[in-house]
Amino acid sequence: GFKCGIVGLPNVGKSTLFNALTQTAAAQAANYPFCTIEPNVGDVAVPDARLDVLAEIAGSAQIIPTRLTFVDIAGLVRGASRGEGLGNQFLANIREVDAIAHVVRCFEDGDITHVEGRIDPINDIETIETELMLADLDSLEKRVIALEKKARGQDKEAKEALDLINRTLPLLRDGKPARLVERKPEEERTFAQLGLLTSKPVLYVCNVDEGSAEAGNDFSVRVFERAKAEGAVAVVVSARIESEIAVLPPEEQKEYLEAIGLTEPGLNRVIRAGYKLLGLLTYFTIGPKEARAWTITAGTRAPAAAGVIHSDFEKGFIRSETVGYDDYVACKGEAGAREAGKFRLEGKDYIVADGDVLHFRFNT
Ligand code: GDP
Repeated sequence: GFKCGIVGLPNVGKSTLFNALTQTAAAQAANYPFCTIEPNVGDVAVPDARLDVLAEIAGSAQIIPTRLTFVDIAGLVRGASRGEGLGNQFLANIREVDAIAHVVRCFEDGDITHVEGRIDPINDIETIETELMLADLDSLEKRVIALEKKARGQDKEAKEALDLINRTLPLLRDGKPARLVERKPEEERTFAQLGLLTSKPVLYVCNVDEGSAEAGNDFSVRVFERAKAEGAVAVVVSARIESEIAVLPPEEQKEYLEAIGLTEPGLNRVIRAGYKLLGLLTYFTIGPKEARAWTITAGTRAPAAAGVIHSDFEKGFIRSETVGYDDYVACKGEAGAREAGKFRLEGKDYIVADGDVLHFRFNT
């Protein structure tokens, strides 16, 4: 599955946020007994209102959302790239995730120490990013000599890697993340293999005080400005409120949210933003027994999409019967969509679209 790593300086609210994410009733749905794999790894349901609509129309007995994995990567401090704290271990953990949710402290609280002595989200972001950039610089510089040798021996892959590295190094030395390096689509694979920490997409999670959970505050405004400038994404959340909501039964959750003027838990925004950041799409399988959402990446063809359910579906793939979400809803379900001729037969080359409702036909 896809993994989003939660990073940030100590005491910014990472654990509070992670616990809220993994404590919600949805995260602990009974059909997922293994939702908490390790203490710091949690599988959360991806909130998607479309799934409820589809289940309602089809009268599905069960609703099964798709999932996204969050990893709490604690302990990143200034100096991590030089091995300060448990630096190397944490940098290794970041290497394993597909995207980074960077929690930034945007709340004041005299009782909770800030490691840098003052609340300054932009400075905090730079502290973490500097560590990641230094780690990337170090790892690239270590590789250059060996690659130069190989490239002289006409190794094509080594040449390509070296070329990319030589374009990335000046950026990093200039204090810019590797993800900003210009590259051709055919270089993406090699770039991904470099395994650079600053090549991963970033979502800033502004952890604000309880009173600013809806609109944000002066601190979060600055983070949003920065995110915009660097093509990243930002969301506002109050980890403390979320941790209180997470443990309430569903009915009480609704009341609590209404009382503080929220329409849904802020965590939903975090999860959805993480999902989008990873370039993930959702398709649905809908029937009387269950309405279920499945995750694919953009550009996935029908057989590979079927393979997400079971490898046999991919191996024996014949075709998929396909209807878009809007058509399914407008025709009030499968029967109506068939009558209206909205169910299409799609073959092996079909690129699955977000919101597709699919039935796979396959040989066993
Ligand atoms: P971590 O070190 O980043 O994992 O931070 P924690 O989640 O352990 O939070 C550090 C401290 O800040 C804890 O005492 C939390 O209760 C507190 N905290 C977290 N979020 C908020 C918040 O939104 N407001 C306030 N006032 N305190 C918070």
